[in-house]
Amino acid sequence: MIASTSKTLVTGCAGFLGSHLCEALLARGDNVIGVDCFSDYYARSLKEANLAGLRAAPRFTLLEADLAECPLEPVLDGVDTVFHLAAQPGVRLSFGTGFSAYLRDNVQVTQRLLEAVAGRDLKAFVYASSSSVYGNQDVYPAREDAPLRPLSPYGATKVITEQLAGGFWRSAGVPAVGLRYFTVYGPRQRPDMAFATLRGQSAGRPSAGGPRRRGQVREFTYVHDVVSATIAAAERGQLGAVYNGGGGVPISLLEMIDLLGDLLGRKPKVEHEDGAPGDPRRTDADITRAARDLGYRPSTSLPEGLAAQIESARAGDAAARLRARRARGHANRRGRRKMLGLSQDGGATRALGAGPRVLAYSHDGYGLGHLRRNLRIVTGLRRQRPDVQALLVTGAKSAERLAAPFDVDCVQLPPVTKVANGRYVIEERAGSFKDVLLRRSAMIANAVREFRPDLILVDRYPRGMHDELAAALRLQAAQRPGAPAVLGLRDILDSPAAIRQEWEVNRYSDAIRETYAMVLCYGDPKVYDPVREYGLPGDVAARIRFTGYLADDLLAAGSPEIRSRHCLAEGRLAVCTLGGGKDAAGIAVSFLSAVASLRDRGWSGVLITGPYMASEDVDRLRRHEASGSVSILPMVDDVPSYLAAADAAVCMGGYNTVCELLALAVPAVIVPRVHPRQEQRMRAERLGARGLVRWLEPGDLSPGVLADSIERLDGLPRKELAGRIGSIEHRGIQASAQHLAALLPAVRSAEEPAGPWLNQPLTARVASGGR
Ligand code: NAD
Repeated sequence: MIASTSKTLVTGCAGFLGSHLCEALLARGDNVIGVDCFSDYYARSLKEANLAGLRAAPRFTLLEADLAECPLEPVLDGVDTVFHLAAQPGVRLSFGTGFSAYLRDNVQVTQRLLEAVAGRDLKAFVYASSSSVYGNQDVYPAREDAPLRPLSPYGATKVITEQLAGGFWRSAGVPAVGLRYFTVYGPRQRPDMAFATLRGQSAGRPSAGGPRRRGQVREFTYVHDVVSATIAAAERGQLGAVYNGGGGVPISLLEMIDLLGDLLGRKPKVEHEDGAPGDPRRTDADITRAARDLGYRPSTSLPEGLAAQIESARAGDAAARLRARRARGHANRRGRRKMLGLSQDGGATRALGAGPRVLAYSHDGYGLGHLRRNLRIVTGLRRQRPDVQALLVTGAKSAERLAAPFDVDCVQLPPVTKVANGRYVIEERAGSFKDVLLRRSAMIANAVREFRPDLILVDRYPRGMHDELAAALRLQAAQRPGAPAVLGLRDILDSPAAIRQEWEVNRYSDAIRETYAMVLCYGDPKVYDPVREYGLPGDVAARIRFTGYLADDLLAAGSPEIRSRHCLAEGRLAVCTLGGGKDAAGIAVSFLSAVASLRDRGWSGVLITGPYMASEDVDRLRRHEASGSVSILPMVDDVPSYLAAADAAVCMGGYNTVCELLALAVPAVIVPRVHPRQEQRMRAERLGARGLVRWLEPGDLSPGVLADSIERLDGLPRKELAGRIGSIEHRGIQASAQHLAALLPAVRSAEEPAGPWLNQPLTARVASGGR
């Protein structure tokens, strides 16, 4: 594994937006330094709660420091990207004597930071501005080049922030990019802001402030959308520019209050008063520029986002009550044990909240593909329902490491390894295969029993590997009748003959009828239609929803650095990534020789062997005479950045890899695995026929043929490739998340009393024989 050495600085990390941004940056693999002085604008305890998850993250460092005074050299040491969010926010307190805090924290701090970064080799300096710079406009939606007419001293400090950043870009080349945020909401929203205040009112508590102005219109933006725009600004923003980061749909405050009332199930009490100084009549963003340059598309509707915020606040309230009870020494022991303490083998210990629970199972007998797929889908679902609590149940060995950055818990099953279709072996010393299967089956059922999911997502096998899931599914049907199960299938599984036989022998269609509310097919029937090819019966076909390939936009922030590390300035880079790498040594050798033969034409290479390639094979590669032009890496954290850095990629045809190629529009040559299943070859063939990839039969592979294919890829413009990719459905994460979100309850129902089965020993029925 290559540890990233680059560091990202986030100022105001304990605040509402800063804490969410840090979480997103950690999730994409950054090392994050967060700075905050815990200003007294609102309670420190709330900021500490914002930081709760971050403090536990190994790649996060918190510096408690006041940026108006502290020495900045040590803060900036090794930092290559700055996100500057620290500020004194809010309009009201900026009038009168309150202004000095705004001058200090917004103006002076920004000027200090800009001076300190001038002359440093920064990738980007992204800073927070605000819709307050617009004041009242003649034309709406407001474009970035509209006249700036702030109505409050706060708005004026944001105009100065923009002017300072623009000045340092022009005079000192500081790569500044600004974002004007429009009333951001979502979990952990600042307590003085609209919805946080309204929630207090509707709960019958008095409230200071809140949106009580007649006829005002506001553009609300969900926090995760804001975070994605902020990260995109660092990656793709035009230096010196400023962008509107609005939510897309302005709404009158009265309509918003009605909506909130509907979601809360009671009408908030609203007192009307006339507009206060500093409040514009309307905020309404034109986001054309952000869409064009940053690819920004806010994707969370107000009802979705509000529901998520309410849920998260309720969960927070419940947790706070529990903490208070414990502090008073009244916490009862059972309550304290009501954790995700899945009693066996390394279960997690996270306290359960009130959001809906999703358990995602993947058997993972080969590589990490199933696990990575479930992880991406669950993460996508969280973008739509941030209150979702997820538990992955998986046989993949590296599960916890892969899942940790996404804040997802894992139950890791004893691993098995696939040796042929439906045939798996266990690790030495693990006992008999049947024992391992029994243990796995009991662990899955136990996870279901204790986690009590609202939805189970199953990858590939309707009853799990060798029916190991069957007991858990029966248990779930008894303990949460009506809670849906969803089966996820890749676009192509194997040849029609093999799949028709496998499905018939195992009665998978019956299993789907009995158990599954929906089957997600992660593909596009234009490319491959499994209903037709596999002859699925009509009632099973009716449950299928095609999501498109799971190839939604991927972050590939590290690619410029990777290019500069592995490739000459005018040169070209070939990247070969081989998934787990177990059976891929032959491709690796051809790749080394192919790149060596292209060296004179400016090519260099990176070979990522994968964690499962035998160490003697890796040693042989390192000793290979052609290894001089290629960096050989066993495993990297950020495969997408390596792919995005490539002028040509060489891969096998695994589903996830192909999705990454499509998401990043990387010209690629695929050398598919053809045993034991035909899946990869069929996929390569279908995508090849649409001009999306080149592919080679493994039997035809030689260094010369591969070198020729790599060179030819270089002639394919990415724009043209992206256009072709656009002709197939490839936003599958978002589509899957939408389907799953629609099946989740808005609010998790109260726990039903435990049935008698809870106290009975669990018997897992396990099918024998090799499939
Ligand atoms: P927040 O108050 O929750 O976070 C700001 C953080 O900055 C706080 O934790 C505070 O302690 C810290 N800070 C302030 N002065 C500091 C200093 N001198 N040194 C170190 N830390 C300091 O606010 P937020 O809502 O997360 O807003 C983040 C940024 O986005 C701000 O710049 C704000 O003006 C801007 N903004 C926010 C919104 C919104 O709707 N939340 C809208 C427009 C603009």
